[in-house]
Amino acid sequence: MEISEVRIKLMNDPHERLLAFCSITFDVSFVIRDLKIIQGAKGAFVAMPSRKLMDRCPKCHTKNHLRASFCNQCGVRLDENRADKDDAGRARLYADIAHPINSECRELIQEEVLKAYEEERVSAQQEGYICRYDDFGEEDYARLGPYEEDYDETPLVQSSRTESTVHRKNGQVFRIDAAEDRSDGKPPHHNPADQPAADRVTSQNREPGAQGDSFGSGIV
Ligand SMILES: [Zn+2]
Repeated sequence: MEISEVRIKLMNDPHERLLAFCSITFDVSFVIRDLKIIQGAKGAFVAMPSRKLMDRCPKCHTKNHLRASFCNQCGVRLDENRADKDDAGRARLYADIAHPINSECRELIQEEVLKAYEEERVSAQQEGYICRYDDFGEEDYARLGPYEEDYDETPLVQSSRTESTVHRKNGQVFRIDAAEDRSDGKPPHHNPADQPAADRVTSQNREPGAQGDSFGSGIV
């Protein structure tokens, strides 16, 4: 197996640990995107694409991030230590979507990606530089979904959200735009109009057995 191409999107923020996004192509045939180059204590390393792990509220069955202290739908208090622990005792909050299964492959990817990153930094200094990473512009429209509010940071329930705020989480920057005025006092996570259509059906249909219809809808 050969890494035939690496595409880099530089972040250009010296204060952030997230240095770049990148995609890698294997054998001119298969692309994996959304890898991250992160500045660690012992130098830059490559993080595999991952997704947040979710579980269902025992009361209303809405999916919540494992770190959420309260259910985003019904507000019930959740056990904050419910996430599985890894061997080092750290909570398992994310799962890799794609990853090497041996250290040889991990080192190959890391080596190729970091080499491409250094080359990209040089070419980015030149006139007419064009980033070749297939960018979906995530950072430009990133905002928290109804189930993604991070209770470990600013208490969004109490904020009026009348203007755009910049939210830093896991080294990534999320811009939260005020979609509407919340001054009516309704807690945002109780407003069904904010939910995606698929989830709205579920939350209004409390009959047992109907919950399975939205399986996977909370995965992003
Ligand atoms: Zn709930």
